[in-house]
Amino acid sequence: MQERMFKGIPLIFMILCLIHFDNLTAHTSFSSAVILLDSKAQQTELEWIASPPSGWEEISGLDENFTPIRTYQVCQVMEPNQNNWLRTNWIEKGDAQRIFVELKFTLRDCNSLPGVVGTCKETFNLYYQETDVEVGRNIRESQYVKIDTIAADESFTQGDLGERKMKLNTEVRIIGPLSRRGFYLAFQDVGACIALVSVKVYYKKCWSIIENLATFPDTVTGSEFSSLVEVEGTCVSDAEEEADNSPKMHCSAEGEWLVPIGKCICKAGFHQKGDACEPCGRGFYKSSSQDLQCSRCPAHSYNDREGSWRCDCEDGYYRALSDPPSIACTRPPSAPQNLVYNINQTTVTLEWSPPADTGGRNDVTYRIICRRCSWEPEECVPCGGNVAFTPQQSGLTDTYITISELLAHANYTFEVEAVNGVSDLSRTQRLFAAVSIATSQAAPSQVSEVIKERVQEHSIQLSWQEPEQPNGVITEYEIKYYEKDQKDRIYSTVKSKSTSATVNNLKPSTAYVFQIRAFTAAGYGMFGPRLEVTTKEESSGAATIVSSEQNPVIIIAVVAVAGTIILVFMVFGFIIGRRHCGYSKADQEGDEELYFQFKFPGTKTYIDPETYEDPNRAVHQFAKELDASCIKIERVIGAGEFGEVCSGRLKLPGKRDVPVAIKTLKVGYTEKQRRDFLCEASIMGQFDHPNVVHLEGVVTRGKPVMIVIEYMENGSLDAFLRKHDGQFTVIQLVGMLRGIAAGMRYLSDMGYVHRDLAARNILVNSNLVCKVSDFGLSRVIDDDPEAVYTTTGGKIPVRWTATEAIQYRKFTSASDVWSYGIVMWEVVSYGERPYWDMSNQDVIKAIEEGYRLPAPMDCPPGLHQLMLDCWQKDRADRPKFDQIVGILDKMIRNPNTLKTPVGTTTRPISPLLDQSTPDFTSFRSVSEWLEAIKMERYKDNFTAAGYSSLESVARMTIEDVMSLGISLVGHQKKVMSSIQTMRAQMIHLHGTGVQV
Ligand code: AMP
Repeated sequence: MQERMFKGIPLIFMILCLIHFDNLTAHTSFSSAVILLDSKAQQTELEWIASPPSGWEEISGLDENFTPIRTYQVCQVMEPNQNNWLRTNWIEKGDAQRIFVELKFTLRDCNSLPGVVGTCKETFNLYYQETDVEVGRNIRESQYVKIDTIAADESFTQGDLGERKMKLNTEVRIIGPLSRRGFYLAFQDVGACIALVSVKVYYKKCWSIIENLATFPDTVTGSEFSSLVEVEGTCVSDAEEEADNSPKMHCSAEGEWLVPIGKCICKAGFHQKGDACEPCGRGFYKSSSQDLQCSRCPAHSYNDREGSWRCDCEDGYYRALSDPPSIACTRPPSAPQNLVYNINQTTVTLEWSPPADTGGRNDVTYRIICRRCSWEPEECVPCGGNVAFTPQQSGLTDTYITISELLAHANYTFEVEAVNGVSDLSRTQRLFAAVSIATSQAAPSQVSEVIKERVQEHSIQLSWQEPEQPNGVITEYEIKYYEKDQKDRIYSTVKSKSTSATVNNLKPSTAYVFQIRAFTAAGYGMFGPRLEVTTKEESSGAATIVSSEQNPVIIIAVVAVAGTIILVFMVFGFIIGRRHCGYSKADQEGDEELYFQFKFPGTKTYIDPETYEDPNRAVHQFAKELDASCIKIERVIGAGEFGEVCSGRLKLPGKRDVPVAIKTLKVGYTEKQRRDFLCEASIMGQFDHPNVVHLEGVVTRGKPVMIVIEYMENGSLDAFLRKHDGQFTVIQLVGMLRGIAAGMRYLSDMGYVHRDLAARNILVNSNLVCKVSDFGLSRVIDDDPEAVYTTTGGKIPVRWTATEAIQYRKFTSASDVWSYGIVMWEVVSYGERPYWDMSNQDVIKAIEEGYRLPAPMDCPPGLHQLMLDCWQKDRADRPKFDQIVGILDKMIRNPNTLKTPVGTTTRPISPLLDQSTPDFTSFRSVSEWLEAIKMERYKDNFTAAGYSSLESVARMTIEDVMSLGISLVGHQKKVMSSIQTMRAQMIHLHGTGVQV
């Protein structure tokens, strides 16, 4: 009884104290703990097993919140040999490897208990037993593993009511690693006075977190105190692991995450917001996970979805495969501009300006599409692989190309296309600039394969292959040779009609160098490579037959037709003769091959001086250098593009002085101006025809630089005719036209296209001989005031130019024929302006609609018919210059054909209007005349302005007509042309001019 009472007093006391002390206890952090057992949390009876039942006792109490709590107490201090066990319920361990056991208890100080010496203890033992399942309620001590003997840090003394001595002990013990599914804890009391206030069993975990956009799951700490558990992170949605840097963290034994390594990053199309990845908004994109932020769509692109990694290009815009999504969408470039060409036989150079629109890219290159076209009907096929493009056909970065090895006398179309990185992606129409070109005659290509067939003491036999591109029928080969070691190189030549030849009269044991070239109607080709052959050693004394011959002998291996030879020698003699007339030797400085060049009449081809790398060489090849002291300048007669044009005299040694025109290059010229200026001489110097202005020579080695031309006393044809309006007979006019046509026939035969044939570019001498002039390459563009820019690019003298040349720059001899038709009209109308004062646009429109200039007054119908033939829309239907010369010759021989039929003696210069022509001289009054031309509505205008007689009307100018108040341009023209006709009829009738 005493025992019971003794036992009871401290229990109540201890509970009260407990409630009080709980708040003072250092708080253990359970933020990372998973609780397996908490005796305080259970409000019903714990029902642990006590053995013997008289030992540990379950006692209820209240905590500070008046929440019931369960405690176990034992206090058998009076009796010896206590062995009281208390076992918890089975605790399932879950994931745990290391288990924490936290005990809170109070322990009574034995000293404070009277009469307990020897039996009272101040410790108790803690045990555990691992099992996979719950076992029975019997406690078998031997099955328990001891964890520790637990002593109180601080015990208390009964009767001591001071708070300071009433201490609650907290002890934590760790067990593990555990291998079974669960375990029991057991408390062994061996005679102490204990109140077990709370038992808490837990293990530690690192709780799931998101770090660097990776999720790390709940992780149980390792079994060892010092171990860190390495945990792989999983990227949050729309994020991905950074390359070679996968996210990891380490869970410490304390349940804390330590040492983050690696990370996740938001995928393309997503950006980071807090611990998540959010899609880029509309109109934004993020192309790579590496980028941090979404960016706005670049120019010419868009997107209307969220989470885009790139933006789509607007219609008509593209992105090249290599374009990063961050750059603007682009488009193919526009067509190259200002395409111009130069043709030299079978070589064409094209030059152009970059396109106006590069499509927004800076990778524009050019490619050339080459097509060869048949003449009629125009059908084109790709050029094939034989054509050479320098530097290359596509991928050109420069704006020029040379296309060589074209076929001679063929029609080609070249399209120059600007391309950039997106051109091949675009399905829109290709944009290109195009030119159609006709190649001219070309000399044969090189003879490159030469074989020595037989080598003797005095002769060598050679054979060779025909050149790869004969460009015509090879009529002859020329073999040039010289002694290799001779100091003064003297060439000899041998000719052969076949592909082999024997060269005789050679010295024995001597090295000779041979070169061969082919000859066609187009002239000589280039010499092939040098071949060195040494003659045999002399075997006997017989060689003296030729050894004394020091000078090489030209042997014509195969004798050509006798007439041709005579002609050749005549020409040769002519050339030599001219060379000896005091000209300086400038023209002989060029290629040594010239030394042997014979001129064959009619076989020469025009060579574009632009094809010479060194323009000075071209000048000296084609023009003679004159000594400035031979030239006397007398007066200024005109203004040229590059400087003044003067008249003067040229006195060459041993010759009579001749009148000349001298074109000068103004001081302060640029190198380009000098080149362009002399270019005219390089062209003119190639021509030799009585109807083409003749070049006397050039002065390039002094100042001023001069071009000396034969003097044409009557100046340019248009001004000359205007000055002598109506003063020539039809035969005289046709004679002039015949001369111009003959000059043009010569030029077209040479393959030269003039492009600016007009009366202003014809010069007339004192004998009324007309000669074609104005040959500068830049003449149409810079020189001609009539030339205007057209939509096809380039400046064109519209009124004189054929439709195809205006429309697509197709300049040929056939377009020169069109211009010739206009010159005919100018001549017959005494320098009237073609299409009068119509605008260029109206001219183009009218021609397109089929209108053609009407016959000028007094124009024989045959001549007008010839004009109309020259203006055939289809250029193939136009006559050739050769035919024109023939027709005009016939007219001159039969003057009757030039008579104007009775009744149509005079024709109104009334283009585009009715063709019937009244005889104006038969009208008696102004009103009668106006009625006849159906313009009677203007009667009052004429009367009011005081034009009462036909004579006064005939003096009217276009300004006068306009001042009458006739506002319609068509009516102005109709009235004016009728006035002009009337005036002409009056001159015709009375033989006098009407003073205007
Ligand atoms: P051009 O630079 O060729 O247009 O010449 C300008 C002007 O000089 C021409 O319109 C002619 O009046 C005059 N002219 C040019 N060449 C000659 C020449 N060979 N004989 C006489 N006058 C010429």
